[in-house]
Amino acid sequence: MTEITCKLLVIGAGPGGYTCAIRAGQLGIDTIIVEAEKPGGTCLNVGCIPSKALIHAAGEYEIIARAADGKNAFGISAAPPSLNFARTIAWKDDIVRRLNGGVAGLLKRAGARYVAGRASFRDGKTVEVETPSGRQVIRAETVVIATGSEPVALPFLPFGGRVISSTEALALTEIPKKLVVVGGGYIGLELGTALAKMGAAVTVVEAAPHILPQYDVDLSEPIARRLTALGVTVLTGAKVQALGTESAALAIETASGEQTSLEADKILVTVGRRPATSGFGLEILDLDMDGPFIRIDDRCRTSMHGVSAIGDVTGEPMLAHRAMAQGEMVAEIVAGRRRAWDRISIPAICFTDPEIVTVGLSPNEASSRGFEVKTDLFPFKANGRALTLDREDGFIRTVARADNHLLLGIQGVGAGIAELSAAFGLALEMGARLEDVAMTIHAHPTQGEAFHEAALKSLGHAIHI
Ligand code: FAD
Ligand code: NAD
Repeated sequence: MTEITCKLLVIGAGPGGYTCAIRAGQLGIDTIIVEAEKPGGTCLNVGCIPSKALIHAAGEYEIIARAADGKNAFGISAAPPSLNFARTIAWKDDIVRRLNGGVAGLLKRAGARYVAGRASFRDGKTVEVETPSGRQVIRAETVVIATGSEPVALPFLPFGGRVISSTEALALTEIPKKLVVVGGGYIGLELGTALAKMGAAVTVVEAAPHILPQYDVDLSEPIARRLTALGVTVLTGAKVQALGTESAALAIETASGEQTSLEADKILVTVGRRPATSGFGLEILDLDMDGPFIRIDDRCRTSMHGVSAIGDVTGEPMLAHRAMAQGEMVAEIVAGRRRAWDRISIPAICFTDPEIVTVGLSPNEASSRGFEVKTDLFPFKANGRALTLDREDGFIRTVARADNHLLLGIQGVGAGIAELSAAFGLALEMGARLEDVAMTIHAHPTQGEAFHEAALKSLGHAIHI
């Protein structure tokens, strides 16, 4: 068994861990990062990147399929498309492979040492790693736990066979004929929509009264309408009960209490993710927990001196960019800089069709925090650019303090509006008021003008509505 030492040891090379190690390397900190699987973590290998590749391919396929069905409004006709799904998957895998290499290269360039293998704690400053070339002990002054999260299984629907998680859904070899998605949240709807566009007959079973229950109904309603248009059956308030006795059946109870059965050759279970806190000796450290997550303070410090934690293992929202921002902050703290978590908002995007973008507080969240709010929305049906894209569904909404017009939140739902998250996030982080947005010239014709108009509307002088 060999032994090495470093100043900073990062466990897990997902977006949180690799960002932390790269920034630490840039700051001249002697850093080791340990990864059990591949560089890039869930996000790069079986999450954000491969899912967005599939979503894009599915969108392209659906546009041609609509044209072939004569449903294209602008006069383009096409022959029915054919799908070489093996090539789609190979294309997606190649993107992942290139980015794996990219992350490994960035770590190397920053001077961080990469150790392949699963780390297990011996104590708060020492881990053991089973590497391909034997057992390695690593001692560090500071340890960062960035072990991420894993899919939650339902006890009566364990993963295996036709019951799959997002990981298997991203590695299918053919499009399922009948797909049941259990859980109409982020993953279920992103992947369910993509597979429906590529030809699967999809049924979504959601326990809550509406899909995407983390959002208000105004935001989720355009998604529900589009799912219906795509032929997806959505059962809300429904409970999955058990795998049926028939080989393809799944027993469910509908919102009205009716017992029924769905046919499915694949059942995609997407009922949330849980932090990866077991199987690597974490219990030895006896850290304070926050429910299932590791409790951290505003510097990502855990209850043990010299041990920090970042990313999904530390709580909601389980998003890659939160993990990255935490990773960068922790590296700077280790380098002696004065940093603390002072971000106003963490944008969230649901890459459904249409897309949902949220930053900051919703109208209800703002009111329940005691703010008197001014909230207005501008619909895309009054936005020229949206009409030229033949996508009039959705809106942009601003939430501002009634007294001084400080923006507290911005939400939108619309086709392809993910990129507006940058403008929304910047506005909140810069402390923008409605007047700042109103006085900013927004280029024409763009979907971003709906943001401008929502602010103008709140100030009582929208132009285009
Ligand atoms: P992870 O990315 O989970 O990385 C943790 C790493 O630690 C893993 O590589 C794991 O192998 C390694 N590890 C664990 N234990 C050990 C150990 N003991 N020793 C060594 N290594 C270990 N988020 C977004 O922001 N946008 C999206 O579009 C988006 N899409 C998603 C789509 C899907 C299908 C899924 C599943 C997730 C998606 N997410 C998205 C969420 C995003 O993937 C996570 O928030 C993000 O990956 C969290 O980063 P992390 O660094 O905390 O952990
Ligand atoms: P989720 O929390 O988004 O959705 C889970 C859904 O399952 C909820 O709507 C919930 O009501 C429902 N549910 C729970 N138990 C159920 C049951 N027994 N039967 C039917 N429905 C049930 O979780 P997810 O989709 O698994 O995604 C996990 C996390 O990954 C997300 O919270 C998010 O942090 C991250 N993610 C982000 C993105 C993105 O940023 N675009 C994409 C995918 C995943």
